[in-house]
Amino acid sequence: MSQQGYVATPPYSQAQPGMGGYPAGFGSAPSQPLYRQYGGPPQSFPAPPTGKDTCLWSPIPPVKSSAPQLRYTSMQYVIVRLHSCSVLKVDHPPLAFPAGPGPVQSPQAPPTSHLTQQQFQTAPPTAMGHPPMGPHSSQMAHPQSPLAGPTMAGPQSMGGPPPMGGMGRPFPGPPPPGAGGFQQPGPGAAGPPGHPQQLQGQFGGQMAGPGMAGPGMAGPFQGGAAQMAGPPQKKLDPDSIPSTTQVIEDDQAKRGGQVYTTNLRGQVPPLVTTDYTVQDQGNASPRFMRCTTYSFPCTADLAKQCQVPLATIIKPFATVPKNETPMYVVNHGETGPIRCNRCKAYMCPYMQFTDGGRRYQCGFCNCVNEVPAFYFQHLDHMGKRVDFYERPELSLGSYEFAATLDYCKNNKPASPPAYIFMIDVSYANIKSGLVRLVCDELKTLLDNLPREDGAESSMVKVGFVTYNKILHFYNVKSALAQPQMMVVSDTAEMFVPLLDGFLVNFQESRAVINNLLDQIPDMFADTNESETVFAPVIQAGVEALKAAECSGKLFIFHSSIPTAEAPGKLKNRDDKKLINTEKEKTLFQPQKAVYEQLSKDCVSQGCSVDLFLFPSQYVDIATMGDVATHTGGSVFKYSNFQVERDGQHFLSDLRKDVEKAIGFDAIMRVRTSTGFRATDFFGAIHMNNTTDVEMAAVDCDKAVTVEFKHDDTLSEETGALMQCALLYTTISGQRRLRIHNLSLNCSAQLSELYKSCETDALINFFAKSAYRAMLNQPLKTVKEILVNQAAHMLACYRKNCASPSAASQLILPDAMKVFPVYLNSLLKTGPLVGSAELSTDDRAHQRLSTTAMGVEDTQLLLYPRLIPLHNMDVASDVVPTPVRCSEERLTDAGMFLLENGCSLFLWLGQACPPEVIQSIFNVPSLAHVPIDLRSLPELDNPQSQKLRSIIDSLLDQRPSSMKLMIVKQKDRSEIMFRQHLVEDKGLHGGASYMDFLCYVHREIRQVLT
Ligand SMILES: [Zn+2]
Repeated sequence: MSQQGYVATPPYSQAQPGMGGYPAGFGSAPSQPLYRQYGGPPQSFPAPPTGKDTCLWSPIPPVKSSAPQLRYTSMQYVIVRLHSCSVLKVDHPPLAFPAGPGPVQSPQAPPTSHLTQQQFQTAPPTAMGHPPMGPHSSQMAHPQSPLAGPTMAGPQSMGGPPPMGGMGRPFPGPPPPGAGGFQQPGPGAAGPPGHPQQLQGQFGGQMAGPGMAGPGMAGPFQGGAAQMAGPPQKKLDPDSIPSTTQVIEDDQAKRGGQVYTTNLRGQVPPLVTTDYTVQDQGNASPRFMRCTTYSFPCTADLAKQCQVPLATIIKPFATVPKNETPMYVVNHGETGPIRCNRCKAYMCPYMQFTDGGRRYQCGFCNCVNEVPAFYFQHLDHMGKRVDFYERPELSLGSYEFAATLDYCKNNKPASPPAYIFMIDVSYANIKSGLVRLVCDELKTLLDNLPREDGAESSMVKVGFVTYNKILHFYNVKSALAQPQMMVVSDTAEMFVPLLDGFLVNFQESRAVINNLLDQIPDMFADTNESETVFAPVIQAGVEALKAAECSGKLFIFHSSIPTAEAPGKLKNRDDKKLINTEKEKTLFQPQKAVYEQLSKDCVSQGCSVDLFLFPSQYVDIATMGDVATHTGGSVFKYSNFQVERDGQHFLSDLRKDVEKAIGFDAIMRVRTSTGFRATDFFGAIHMNNTTDVEMAAVDCDKAVTVEFKHDDTLSEETGALMQCALLYTTISGQRRLRIHNLSLNCSAQLSELYKSCETDALINFFAKSAYRAMLNQPLKTVKEILVNQAAHMLACYRKNCASPSAASQLILPDAMKVFPVYLNSLLKTGPLVGSAELSTDDRAHQRLSTTAMGVEDTQLLLYPRLIPLHNMDVASDVVPTPVRCSEERLTDAGMFLLENGCSLFLWLGQACPPEVIQSIFNVPSLAHVPIDLRSLPELDNPQSQKLRSIIDSLLDQRPSSMKLMIVKQKDRSEIMFRQHLVEDKGLHGGASYMDFLCYVHREIRQVLT
């Protein structure tokens, strides 16, 4: 590797005592840098190779004050200058860098003077007026500097080096034995027909927008962060550090409203937040697959060096707008879909037809296969089959195959799935009115069960169970005049007392079912039973589906920790004393083996579990939610549920959940071209081996994050191909294979990788791997690994891709420039924060919910939208542009909406004008606004209408409903809201964005020494 690109390290960043001490909030520094990373075996950051030009490693003099303050190079990146904790400027070079491979583009080559000059001219040296970077910069890393001082202090001080042993993969397993035997080395596979390979650099400019927050944007907020941070009183300019809202706005301005055509390999898609239309031309839509980078490094060494996780987040059933390519179903007849003989990849655009159309070479394993006679077609002069555009499997990235009996359980056709509603009728649920609410709702909701497109009615069968310590099954056969109840009181050996009449068609049994739903609340109206069982309830559901030989979903409405004598009985094990100890992880580990076995039973039957919890105290969600999160299900939680207040919130969740698009009894396999393979999987999934991802169900909101590792060298010419094949049962009982194909670039230049990174996908991977790791490692270790890996990623960029610059400059790759704010937000999330003030169940719930999130959901969760409402244009349809998530952006006379996909807050400033309050709440002043309001009154004025329509549109876009909370400035309730201002110092510990950047910068410098 050429050493020309290394940045010389100034003397003050050489190893010094006290250098790189961890700020208190992150514990003291390990004696050795942490070498463990997510997504890789323990390894060290490569030492500077020997034989290099030594002068490149000799210290350079500190930058003179007369030197230009900004360096422009051929690479896209952001320079953030940190000067004694004050950020002096942010800028990045213009994006008009010419595409195409060439010596000037090589990351190893220093920028040519020509380029430097050209770019200097186009981007004005905006920061010339800032203080020089001279020797002061050394304060950066000094332990006594304000930066390293108390500003980062958090409650969870950590000491000592992290344990290195046992730091491996939380769920260690043997390496997969070669995914399907297709890893034979062979000649480079041919590129995808019809999909021209992309020139290096062609897509390089896509991710960056113009107008990064620069000094010109400095607002009236100077100094605020410093006051917040404690002692240092330097003037800070929060506008000068990379802004997520700006990145989102820029991408929307640049790519919003456009058609994104998927015909290019390695193309970086618009951000998840951007409004775009996809045209499938041979690669899966980014709605289905998103990658951490669209250019994989060619070798394992490069991958290790940069430590950027190589991962794809797959959402196989993602909702697709009506104007985009629908999912075509291909039928290859009795013999089933055409597949490569060797690696079993399905026919796709990456198969290269040869020999006049009689053979095809597999793009994944290079095996040459005969074309079956029925599938033969002539090739045109370009070597393309003449039926190319008539066959979705040749021209599209995503499509489905009709599966044959070979793909069905026991070679028998699948049946339509069943939905079983299981209602806890113990005292708490009866008293709260929940049972009546659920029963009333089901009468209308069951008309909206999911159905095939164009089908008149749903083929999903329904069944009903009520329970407390014992279970009641109901016969609701259409021929009956009255429903019949059958009681099972022996919960140790669960069985289903009736077959015929338990699972029925709603349309046919409507009268009996409605009769039952009317009776249930009254039947148990006088109950005193407060104890419940839980595991036997799930067991009963599985047994019922087993008996009916179908897959399905259980909707369980449950109130309390199951303490009745039965399998899966739980006891309260919440112990706040464990927080910030080695044993904290036990709070999140599921409690009993019985639930693990239940998960397995559920998965093998294709039984998904959705849990609606209504707890008034600790219920051990870590255990109760375990089955749901291994069966493609969800856990919904409504603490201290009150029908009047929370009923609508719960009902909208239930409606979405019942009606959503979903597949059952699914098994997913991700195949790759030679040189790399899928090694790890995160999601609401179950795995019996190292390659097959089993999902009892997978719905339109569930995503699986897949990590890849090299096992050979990848070729720049052929790129990296992946094919996700999902075998599943449709809502009407058809067996199908849903195929998603994606082709990525490969490069020997790390700069290509950094250019094609996607921060939103990266943070999805980091969140899921950290939340899994916390089951087996102390939180402080998990957090240290996260920060350390991030520092390595950024240090590697600086070392290999950025042009030489003073160590006092923080240099971020353009595509990762807001990665630190997301990472810092992740570190401050409930599960990782380790505060006794948070409920253990809330933390466990958030951990479990994140497991199956797609990129959109983790993006919004970790950087909420803070929408100013006081200046909104009531005549416009547009939602006002969000502002940065910081207290600095709030104004006393303002009104803001904050949403993160789980919570929705309406924040009212102390000086909010009475007329605004009147128009929204119909009360004379702020003091009169009731804070337990869960929806806004429907008032006939433009302000009220506009605000309610904004809220409705937000609720509509999100997978689950969000409870609206009214928050008044300086009120007690404001604490909940402030937790979500992720750029500020965490309420329960954790640094402000500004402090975190300084901290990351120091870590980078330590890595570089
Ligand atoms: Zn093959």
